[in-house]
Amino acid sequence: MPAPDPAAGLAALEAAGLQRRRRVVEPGTRAGTLKVDGLELVDFSSNDYLGLARDSRLAQAMGDSARREGVGSGASHLVTGHRSAHHALEERLAAWCGREQALLFSTGYMANLGLASALVGPGDRVLEDRLNHASLLDAGLLSRARFARYAHADSAALERRLERAAGGRTLVLTDGVFSMDGDVAPLPDLAAACRRHDALLAVDDAHGLGVIGATGRGSLEQHGLGQEDVPLLVGTLGKALGSFGAFVAGPAPLIDWLIQRARTYLYTTALPPPVAATTLAALDLAERESWRRERCLALTQRFREGAQRAGLALTPSVTPIQPVIVGDAKATLAASAALQDRGFLVVAIRPPTVAVGSARLRVTLSAALDEADVDGLVAALAEVLPARQSEARHHAA
Ligand SMILES: *Cc1c(COP(=O)(O)O)cnc(C)c1O
Repeated sequence: MPAPDPAAGLAALEAAGLQRRRRVVEPGTRAGTLKVDGLELVDFSSNDYLGLARDSRLAQAMGDSARREGVGSGASHLVTGHRSAHHALEERLAAWCGREQALLFSTGYMANLGLASALVGPGDRVLEDRLNHASLLDAGLLSRARFARYAHADSAALERRLERAAGGRTLVLTDGVFSMDGDVAPLPDLAAACRRHDALLAVDDAHGLGVIGATGRGSLEQHGLGQEDVPLLVGTLGKALGSFGAFVAGPAPLIDWLIQRARTYLYTTALPPPVAATTLAALDLAERESWRRERCLALTQRFREGAQRAGLALTPSVTPIQPVIVGDAKATLAASAALQDRGFLVVAIRPPTVAVGSARLRVTLSAALDEADVDGLVAALAEVLPARQSEARHHAA
């Protein structure tokens, strides 16, 4: 909603229940809790799936690295900012996800913008899942290639697009795990369609890496897909790994090309070296402490079973992203506030982040939580949800 007159724009957002407000948050007294306005809440909204963001060993790693080499990298990677911690992390990330090479970016948003702009431009085209993360959609739009979206998780719809002749290159972008819905893209079918039509496929697995797949290597591992099937993989380091930053991994020539041409890589200061050192330590913990992933997924299962028993309407998602769709933006805000009164932080996700009429409570599960937290949330949800959800409850009863 463009707001040439900010005051009027803000009033319109407010009237529609769409104004965003930041809250100042502090860590609570135990993992999995946050303090908001002095009130301790159980955190069902962060993307800290493995409960690593507040791990004291990572804090130690960050402090040690900062004392050794300072906090700032001082320049971009191609000037003097590329330190041994960055380089070691890139090698480790490439090995972790079974790819030839990996390239660090400061954020996932920048990784996606850089990737698309480096690989396609005028005369090419970008095809994207309709429900892709905003950073992928922006990446497609800003690349100046022709841009089209296909129906959500619909490989046949993608294929119909691919069948239409195009002059230049085609880049296909999809979330691995969809960030607001938690479902997994039909990656084998998407990969096959891209292969048939000589399109380049990139998967952004921000919410899959560290969490799903037999050993936590994400949605590609879950589907048994390698670099030959999905050439480019984007991962973020601020979610399951509890740190900060992002990477793109794939065949060496493609990554080398990104080093030459990805503007969001070239023209920005390299991550603080202590952040890279911390992420390396986080990868160690994620691999060594597989109980974290197992616990996060077991709590996800517990949430689903409890919610089903309580008659709450769930989506088919089996990942730790468990949206409870309310529909109306104001009703979702009211439900979120009522949960907060009961000690639970579940942020209301509203348009334009999700489609109009599909506002939701986006519940995320984490290894930092325990069974009692999950059972408590289910009971609170059953109390506070509006009519449509309670109807579902009556039907289930
Ligand atoms: C969070 C997210 C990003 C952005 O990553 P940042 O490192 O937070 O900028 C990109 N893609 C997807 C799918 C995400 O969920």
